[in-house]
Parts: sequence; structure tokens; C-alpha cells
Amino acid sequence: VIVVGGGPCGSFAALTAAKLGAANVFVFEEHKEIGVPSHCSGHVSIRGLKRLELSVPQKVIENEIKGAIFYSPYGSEFRVKFGSPITCVLNRNLFDKYLAALAEDAGVKYKLGERVDSFVFSQGFVKGVSTKGNTIASNIVVDSEGCSSILLKKAGLATLAKSMVVNGVQAEVDNIKNIDGDTVEVYLSQNYACGLYAWIIPKRDGSAKVGLATKNGNPRKSLEYFVSHNHKVREKLKNSKLVNLSYHPIPIGGSISKTYENGLLIVGDAASHVKPTTGGGIIIGLTCAKIAGDITRQAIQNRDYSKAFLATYQKRWQKAIGFDMTVMRQIRLMLNRLSDQQIDKIISLCSQLHLDQDLTRVKEIDFQGKGIIPILKNPRTWMVTLYSILASLIVYI
Ligand SMILES: Cc1cc2nc3c(=O)[nH]c(=O)nc-3n(C[C@H](O)[C@H](O)[C@H](O)COP(=O)(O)OP(=O)(O)OC[C@H]3O[C@@H](n4cnc5c(N)ncnc54)[C@H](O)[C@@H]3O)c2cc1C
Repeated sequence: VIVVGGGPCGSFAALTAAKLGAANVFVFEEHKEIGVPSHCSGHVSIRGLKRLELSVPQKVIENEIKGAIFYSPYGSEFRVKFGSPITCVLNRNLFDKYLAALAEDAGVKYKLGERVDSFVFSQGFVKGVSTKGNTIASNIVVDSEGCSSILLKKAGLATLAKSMVVNGVQAEVDNIKNIDGDTVEVYLSQNYACGLYAWIIPKRDGSAKVGLATKNGNPRKSLEYFVSHNHKVREKLKNSKLVNLSYHPIPIGGSISKTYENGLLIVGDAASHVKPTTGGGIIIGLTCAKIAGDITRQAIQNRDYSKAFLATYQKRWQKAIGFDMTVMRQIRLMLNRLSDQQIDKIISLCSQLHLDQDLTRVKEIDFQGKGIIPILKNPRTWMVTLYSILASLIVYI
């Protein structure tokens, strides 16, 4: 088994396959160190980690979060606070290393500093990869190369929708003021964060992760604009310095149409297994990577690497996340159509109608399709949902 990419999804697929009995599982990672460079906020649901049976060591967890404040472009706020931590902030460098260590313990071998240049095809099957001019044969390749999808493009296979990729930037800041240590801040704006949002995620040590993702323009310039022109943020960061800036794209268009070929499975960002609403790809990606690991082991057991058999991977992940991905994609498309004025009205409405009382009953934040069904029974939620849908359909409301 060859896994391309030692990010969380590659390591988790490899770990699962090896744990279930697959021998000779190799992960090729182009960088010399797992988890470096890191470009991600690592904000994940605690329930999601539990569902994946991951008990992450304390040193990997930078904070535990009980709530969120959503800010409109004009400063309106909507707060949601839970009684206990619902999400946590992972140190992505350490988290990736933790997963790789679990995989190594299960027998997976890592080839660090080895970039895969292309897939090797034989009789219509992916039968290995080429790296540094050498061909390495395999029965099955798991492509977890991340959002770049270079190998898929080279092989002429379907990749993610470029129009639904946003460009992310993230920085670390110290000395942040006027922020609740257990609350993330989300700033919506079609100006500097068109197509997603900007965020401040506090860490236990008093520092924070500040970032945004946008469809338009240069993300660094957008981040500079955000921290200097949003008066709330300017005040919070007036004694802070932005350091360790990192840049990376986020695919938010929902899954690619086909995540398997003869001898090939596609997982994680490469498959666009990312929540279209929030850009969160860790829990969703790992959920599908786990399925890919299981299907890999079954393929080896049955000696069947045909797309007819590997289609089972797609059937299983669609059962697990397909409905939620469809709902989240529709919500994303709707949000993208809203003007800043409309976003402002929606946030004010949520606050006035005390929607936080309904939202605190939502325990499921990874599967936002099934998760929102119970709260849609409430008339307050209906009002906001209806307003949002209408606002996104009518230019000014
Ligand atoms: C700014 C930002 C903030 C984010 N914040 C969050 C968040 O708070 N919560 C959340 O859930 N998600 C977040 N995400 C998304 C999350 O980072 C990704 O969904 C997740 O990293 C996907 O994991 P992956 O293993 O599929 O890909 P990656 O983490 O991108 O890993 C891919 C790996 O493959 C390697 N690779 C690529 N090509 C090759 C090759 N040809 N040969 C060998 N190795 C190769 C790369 O070096 C890399 O190590 C964020 C993303 C960004 C950009």
C-alpha cells in the first residue's frame, strides 16, 4: 500500500489499514518532518475526536472552547455559549506527529523527504508511484496529497472545483486583549473574507491564532486590512505582533465526484472532504480516511483493486457524510450570495430572537446537515432560516 502525503488523512488511512492487518504500508511525505510546515488552526469538535476513537495527548491540545461570537461586518454580535467545552484547538504540528507515531506503532513505514512525482499506470490500473525517477510498485495507492491535487491533475483525473477554493492565511499573535479565553471569534465580511470568514482562536497561554480565508485578492493584504480596519480587532491586537504567517488553500465546494479509480483511493483535502460551511477538514477528512483504510485492507484481502470494488469506499463515505455535505454546500452557496448588510441583519436577528438557546442544544457540529434538523423544529430558527434564504435570493431585503 502506498499512501501519498503524511498529513492527518494520509496517516489515518495508513494507520487504519495497518491496524486491520494490511502489511507493507508506506507513507511518502515530501517534507523531511511530519507536521511541518503547519498552516491550520486545528479547531475541531471534541465529539468528532471521540467518534474517531482518538484520545489526543494533553500536550497536543492548545485550548478547550465553550462557545463562539459571530461578528457582522457592521459590528453586530451573536454569542453562543455551551456549559462545557465543545471543541478544542490542536497544535497541528504535534497532532500530525501523534497520528504518524500511532501509524508507525501499527507497522506503517514513513519515507520522509520523498516527493511522489506521478502515479504509475499499467493496463488501466494505478500500479505504483514514481519518485526521484524510481518506480515503486503497489497494489493500491491512497492519494492524500492535500488540496494541490497535482498528481490527480497529472493523471487526468477529476479534481476539486477551483471556483470553490478559498485562500487561507494564518498568523500567531501574543498579548491579545479583551478576549474570552474559551471563546472563538468569527468575523463575517464579503470584503476581506469573501467566501468564508476571519477568525481569532485563543490559546491557553494567552496567545491566539488569527486568520482568514477569502476567494478574492491577496490573503495577506486581506489579513492586514482585517487587523487594522476592524475597530474591535484593532483594539484587541493593539499590543500584538503577527508572526509565523502561513498560507494554504481550502477546498469548500463539497466532495469531488469520484474518489476512486482502479488501484486508487482519494482522501482528505485531495477529495475535498472539507465542511463547505466552515472550511474544517480534519474530522470529516479523518472520518473518510478511516473508511479508506478499511476498504484498502479489504481490497488486499480479496485481491481486488478494481474500481468496481473500490466504489464501496465512495458508497460508505457518502452514507456517513453525503447528506451533511450536500446541506453544508447549499448553506455555503447561500451565504456567498449575501451582502454585508444582509449578514448584519441576520446576525442581529439571531441575537434578538435569542437563537443561542436553540443552538446550545445542538451537540453535533461536524455533521451540520443532520445536526440542524432538531433545531429547525423551533419557529425562531425557521424565521432566521427563511430570512436568510430569501435574503440570498433577493438582492436587497
Ligand atoms: C488557514 C487554514 C486553517 C484551517 N483551520 C482548520 C481548522 O481549524 N479545523 C479543521 O478541521 N480544518 C482546518 N483547516 C483545514 C485542514 O487543515 C485540512 O482539511 C487538513 O489539513 C487536510 O488534511 P490532509 O491530510 O488531507 O491534507 P494536508 O494536511 O494538506 O496534508 C497533505 C500532505 O501531503 C504532502 N504531499 C503533497 N503532495 C505530495 C507529494 N506529491 N508527495 C509526497 N507528499 C506530498 C504534503 O506535504 C502534506 O504533508 C484549515 C486550513 C487552512 C488552510
